[in-house]
This record gives sequence, C-alpha cells and structure tokens, in this order.
Amino acid sequence: MQVNRIIRLNRMSLMLRREFLALAAAPLLRGMPVPKIKDISVIATEPAGVRLIVVKIQTDQDGLYGYGCATFTQRADLVVEAVDRYLKPLLIGRPADAVTDTWGMMYNSSYWRNGPVLNNAISGVDQALWDIKGRQAGMPVYELLGGKSRRAAMVYLHASGREIPETMDQARKLMAAGLKAVRLQVGVPGMAAYGAPGSPESLGAGEDPVFDPEKYVRRTLELFEAGRKVLGPEVELLHDVHERVSPRLAVQFAKDMEQFRLFFLEDALSPENIEYFRQIRANCTTPLAMGELFNNPHEWTNVIKSSLIDYIRVHVSQAGGMTPALKIANLGEAFQVRTAWHGPGDVSPIGHCANVTLDIVCPNFGIQEWTVPNDRILEVFDGYPVMKDGYAYVNEKPGWGVEINEKAAVKYPFGSFESGDRKRLNGGWGVVRRPDGTVINQ
Ligand code: MG
Repeated sequence: MQVNRIIRLNRMSLMLRREFLALAAAPLLRGMPVPKIKDISVIATEPAGVRLIVVKIQTDQDGLYGYGCATFTQRADLVVEAVDRYLKPLLIGRPADAVTDTWGMMYNSSYWRNGPVLNNAISGVDQALWDIKGRQAGMPVYELLGGKSRRAAMVYLHASGREIPETMDQARKLMAAGLKAVRLQVGVPGMAAYGAPGSPESLGAGEDPVFDPEKYVRRTLELFEAGRKVLGPEVELLHDVHERVSPRLAVQFAKDMEQFRLFFLEDALSPENIEYFRQIRANCTTPLAMGELFNNPHEWTNVIKSSLIDYIRVHVSQAGGMTPALKIANLGEAFQVRTAWHGPGDVSPIGHCANVTLDIVCPNFGIQEWTVPNDRILEVFDGYPVMKDGYAYVNEKPGWGVEINEKAAVKYPFGSFESGDRKRLNGGWGVVRRPDGTVINQ
C-alpha cells in the first residue's frame, strides 16, 4: 500500500516536472517567439578621459539588441575579460526574456560573489536584457517597471575651487543655470583635497598626495559658513567627505555641519566603519548618504533597515545592475530611505539612463548626481538624458532610448586621454597618505 503511494507520488512529480519544462520551452511573449542571445560583445571606450564599458547583446531576431553599463573604470580591462571569457559562453543560446532568472544564474555561477569586477560584468548583461525587453515591447524601460512616479528628477552638480571664492562663483553659475542643489568642495592649502584641485605643493614628483583630515574639516566648515552667507538659505547644499576621516572625527564633523542644513553629507564613513553611523545619528540631524562603494547586500541591507542613513547612493553597476537596484530601492522605501544613485563621469550614458529610469519610477527618489556630457560622449552615445532647469528627463524611446555609434567609440580607445601610472594602472586613482605617511581610505 505504502509502496503504491510512493510510486503514485513519483509519477505525479514526474508529470509536474514535464509540464514545467514544456512551459519553460514555450514562447512566452504574447505569442511572439522568445528572442535568444546570439552574441555578446563589449564596447570599451574613453571619449571623456574616463574608461567606459558597455555590454552589447545581440539576439537572434533581426535588429533586436540591447546595451548595459558595466563601467568599473579603475580595473576596466578585467571587466572586459569577465564578460568575454565567462558570461558570454555561459549565456549564448539562452532566452533573452528571463531577466531575473539570468541575473540569478550569473550571480551564482561563480560561487564566490559580490565583487566589483563580476558585479559590473553582470550589470552589463542585466541592463542590456532590460533594454532588449523595452525595445521588443516598444516601450521605455520605465513603463515596464510601472510607469512614472514623477515628471522629472532633481539633480545636483559639483562646484569646486582651490579657494572658497572660486567655489562660490561656480555655485552661483550653477544656480543661475537653474540648479536647485549644488555640492560644495574646496582645496586645502598645502595638501591634496577630494573633489577640488589639490594644492600644487602637495604633489611632489613621484610622491603620493598628502591629506590631513583635521585641516580638511576646518577648511570645509569655513566653506559652508561662506556658502550659506553667499548663496542664501534656499539652495540645497551637499558635501562629500569621501570617507577620508576617522570615525570619531566624522561624528564631530557631522555635528558641526548640522547648522548649515545640508541636503546630505556623503560618505562620512568608509564601508568598513558603517557601524559608527549609529553614533552620528545619536548626535545630530545632518542627513546622511552612503553607498557608492557598496557591492554586497550585507552592506546596504543593515544600514537601510536600521535607519542609519537617509539616502542610499549605490553605483548601480557595482551592485550588479538594474535588477538588484530595484530591490534596493524597494527596501529603502519601506524604511523611508530615499535614493541618490551615484552619477559621476565613470558611469556610462547607458548607466545614466538606468539611473534616471529608477529616479522616475521609484516613489522614494531623493536626488540624482549629474554629469554634463562633453561633445565626444554625445558623438558616441546618441540619447543622453536631457537636463533642464535642474531636472533630468527620462528618454521616451523604447528601451533606454540610446544608440551607440560604434565607429566613433573605436576612435577613443582606453588610454586616449591618459598620462602617468596613476591613470594607466588605476583609472586616475591611487594612494593618498596622511602627513605621517599612512595610507588612508578614500
Ligand atoms: Mg562620492
């Protein structure tokens, strides 16, 4: 009796398995044949002096393809290899419609995961598959995600100078151009700075730049005192610490900056020290943003669910693309954490389109960091999102709404605008030291 029951159950599970496989093999897209991944290639280009990587996926359907941002500028060549040698052979011949399933397969196929090289490679494929889905549906990606939650996305740009009046001049120009939010940074006499020109005497030939956290903090407080006096109370002001100070100094600095009513203070701590956000929270109301260095869900999950930050500013391709970024945004929404996706020049125009798509769709959008493209970027990428009066507008064409001129991309290979080892080895990054010679996080 018991044996018969087991045989019946085994037959049932066999039938269910066959039905599942038949379903998986059937065309799923409104009676149209499911596109299959026919080819994957990498577009590596440097039109603005920053190494950009875009993955292109070609399907077996005529004229149906997509692009995804995979830019990790400091180790760009490794991302190219990860796509060419590992993801391409894994994915050729597979259906192009199963975006979430493909993401899970890529993420788990290396067993060890959450590193920037593989996450960026995964992002290139993931965003290209979203682009393909949009092009096939004849809709911008934002429509596939539920449509617009807002008309446009408020952006901020950077104002910086070696001296405080220079930063103020730049900020005034940006405000006159319609910007509602401006990031202020300034150089520090005798040393390197982040986000502003370094002092010439800090850059001896062959030596690493020197940075003194205490001097930087005193100078930045002067900058914001001038900022509120000169620029007024209404403009939104932001600042990026770039994780260069000790946790204790970060707590004090965030307290001292409270009076200037920032839109946010960015990366006051390094990812290794995020537990110290509890102490900043306990001591002041300065809004906190963090996340451009995050690669691992354990980094963003805890700071969001513990309400330790106000803005999550993950670099979307570093987190693995559009698919995980949507989940991060949704998690943030549940805890009143708003989004501020990383948007500097080392995000490709495809990545900027993904950012603006998230900005437009997610109810908990906060602000978008913006990069104004140069003419060579516009020559290679047709469809950079429009920014007007301080707001970015999402593309209305299918997919991301971007076409790439691959012949123009080839004109600007890696190295086109590079000089020196820092650029060649690290995409412009390198070591920064305290006055006693200790390497610091940056
Ligand atoms: Mg930053």
